Amino acid sequence: MRNALLQWSRENPRSLPWKKDKNPYQIWVSEIILQQTRVEQGLPYYHRFMERYPTVETLAATSEDELMKIWEGLGYYRRAQHMLHSARIIVEQYNGEFPSNYEDILRLKGVGDYTAAAVASFAFDLPQVVVDGNVIRVVSRLFAIQDPVDTRATSQRIYDLANQLLDRNDPSFFNQAIMDFGALQCRPANPDCISCPLNFSCTSFQKGIVNLVPLKGKKKAKKIRYFYYIVPTLGNKLYVRKRDKADIWSGLFEFYLIETNNETSWSTVLKKIDLPIISSEGWTGRYKQTLSHQIIHAEFLPVELKDDRLIVERDDYTPIKRKKIRNFAFPKVIDCFLRDKAVILNL
Ligand code: SF4
Repeated sequence: MRNALLQWSRENPRSLPWKKDKNPYQIWVSEIILQQTRVEQGLPYYHRFMERYPTVETLAATSEDELMKIWEGLGYYRRAQHMLHSARIIVEQYNGEFPSNYEDILRLKGVGDYTAAAVASFAFDLPQVVVDGNVIRVVSRLFAIQDPVDTRATSQRIYDLANQLLDRNDPSFFNQAIMDFGALQCRPANPDCISCPLNFSCTSFQKGIVNLVPLKGKKKAKKIRYFYYIVPTLGNKLYVRKRDKADIWSGLFEFYLIETNNETSWSTVLKKIDLPIISSEGWTGRYKQTLSHQIIHAEFLPVELKDDRLIVERDDYTPIKRKKIRNFAFPKVIDCFLRDKAVILNL
């Protein structure tokens, strides 16, 4: 199996920018960006990130707000906050040198088993097996594992089998090979089994159960949330606040939020607030954003304030000039609203 995989990889090289050399910083950045993100979606972000932060020192010196703007639209914003924290640790405690052993890499904030193994093997050729979604699928199909793969026992079994397969002479090449094989040949839907060089030893193929493997546990229903955003304006200013760390979109900015458990009317929403509103634009925008565990329905109502004393002093919102609002990082629903209404809002 190992030889067939390595041969397949030699015949199907995949060109990705961070594969060019063994720079641990670039590999770390690429792996964090690609968590929960497809390569095609992550690539433009990787290029933009590297252009702005070519070294760990440049990343460590940035502000969280600027980093969030670079990350805007990629989701899972805590990844960026953890990266910034880790970059500062690398600069302060490791003198700017990326840690070169698995345990130290694993200690960095936001780095789990997968990312630590990826950096350790790709940058430092350490014999750590990388187990991502592609590897889980390939291994469970090769060995016809029909138990749900999201249990601890099955995860451990898959890790042990992948670890046995690992080529200890060239762990980096092997890890890339099996991940690429999962992405291109042993795909989630319509795997190319007929031309697969491993079909002779693939138990799922031999048993005719490829489409049943891997088995995932039942997905939890997504939580539905209703966000009613009042967009406060006063002269040439809009008012925004940074979101709390304990919820989604931590570190991103938003307008004045009223959240409800059910869909409701604007008249009900407006009864819940005591801002000195003198007029409302009378039009709203309605947007939807689907996250991994939640669905957000967001509506927007621009209003004009008489004064900003309450919203600034009591509610802690910050006035921003209309023309500067796009310098801030917003969740996707707000970004879409701002794009759609840029002209009307005079942004
Ligand atoms: S035969 Fe099909 S299921 Fe088995 S490893 Fe190859 S592509 Fe994957």
